[in-house]
Amino acid sequence: MAKHGVIIGAGPAGCSAAMTLRMRNIDATILSWGEGALCKARRVDNYPGLPEMSGAEMNAVFRRQAEGMGAVFKSALARYVQKTRRGFTVLAGEEMLSCDTVILCSGIGRISRLAGEDALVGQGVSYCATCDGMLYRGGSVAVIAQDGSFEEDVRFLQGICRVDYYMEKPHDAPGGVTVHSDRPQALRAEGGRVTVIAGQEEASYDCVFILRPAVALSMLLPGLEMNGEAVRVDENMATSVPGVFAAGDIVGAPYQAARAVGQGNTAALAAARYLSDNA
Ligand SMILES: Cc1cc2nc3c(=O)[nH]c(=O)nc-3n(C[C@H](O)[C@H](O)[C@H](O)COP(=O)(O)OP(=O)(O)OC[C@H]3O[C@@H](n4cnc5c(N)ncnc54)[C@H](O)[C@@H]3O)c2cc1C
Repeated sequence: MAKHGVIIGAGPAGCSAAMTLRMRNIDATILSWGEGALCKARRVDNYPGLPEMSGAEMNAVFRRQAEGMGAVFKSALARYVQKTRRGFTVLAGEEMLSCDTVILCSGIGRISRLAGEDALVGQGVSYCATCDGMLYRGGSVAVIAQDGSFEEDVRFLQGICRVDYYMEKPHDAPGGVTVHSDRPQALRAEGGRVTVIAGQEEASYDCVFILRPAVALSMLLPGLEMNGEAVRVDENMATSVPGVFAAGDIVGAPYQAARAVGQGNTAALAAARYLSDNA
C-alpha cells in the first residue's frame, strides 16, 4: 500500500513538497486554511521561470501542478498532530487523517494571545470544539473567535451548551448566540472556572473555546524543538520529531519563495528516505 504524507500549508514550500512526494509515489494530502504569505505579494520578480506574476497567480500555478500530479488539497485548519504507534494522526478541521509522515509548511504564524491564556490551556481553555466540546455538555462556555469562519464549531457547541460569544476582531456573529460587544483582553482561573475579562465586564465559564484561523506550533505539535520563533531543522529539513519535516518560512528567514520551494523538495526527499528506512 502506498505511504501517505500530510503537508500542512499550501504555499510554495507545501506545493513543492507535495510534488516531490508524488514523484516518489507517496500519497500527498495538503491542508490549507486561508492565504499564505505568497498570496499577499503584489508582484514577484525574483522567482525563476514565472516572471511578472502576482504572488496569488504564482501560488495558483504551483497548486495546479501539484494537483495535476495527484496531490489532494483540503481546505481545513490543522489543529493537532499526534504520534501514533504506526505513524501520525492529524486533526484537520473536524476530520482525523492518518499518515506516515508530516511536513510542516505553514509559514510564519503571528498569533497574539490573551493575557493569562497560555497558563490555562487544557485547564478550561481549549482550541478545539470537536475535541473538547462534549466535556462541557449542559454547561456554559464562551467562544472567543477571531473571525467568522468557525460557524460549524459554534453550532455544535450551541447544540450541547449555553454559548456566549466574544470577538477578537469585528465580524458577523453566528445567529442565536449571546454576543458580548467588548473585545476580550484577559483570562483568569477562578474556582475551577475561567473568567473572561472584556472591557468593564467579567463573566465565568466552564470552558473558554478560543477559535482562531491559525494554530501555535506549541499547540499543533507539542514538544517540537524551536530556534526562537523558527522550527529547528537539520540540513535535511528534519525536525526534532522523527518522521516530521519542515520547510519554508516556518524554519526562519530569509523569507523567499524560491528558498521555500527548494526546502519543500529537500523535506519531501528526506521524508521519502525516512519512510523507506522505516518500512
Ligand atoms: C507582501 C509580501 C511580498 C513578498 N514578496 C516576495 C518576493 O517578491 N519574492 C520572494 O521570493 N518572496 C516574497 N515574499 C515572501 C514569500 O511569500 C514567502 O517566503 C513564501 O510564501 C513562504 O512560503 P511558505 O510555503 O513557507 O509559506 P506561505 O506562503 O505563507 O504558506 C503558508 C500556508 O500554510 C497554511 N497554513 C498555516 N497554518 C495552517 C494550519 N494550522 N492548518 C492548515 N494550513 C495552514 C496557509 O493556509 C498557507 O497555505 C513576500 C511576502 C509578502 C508577505
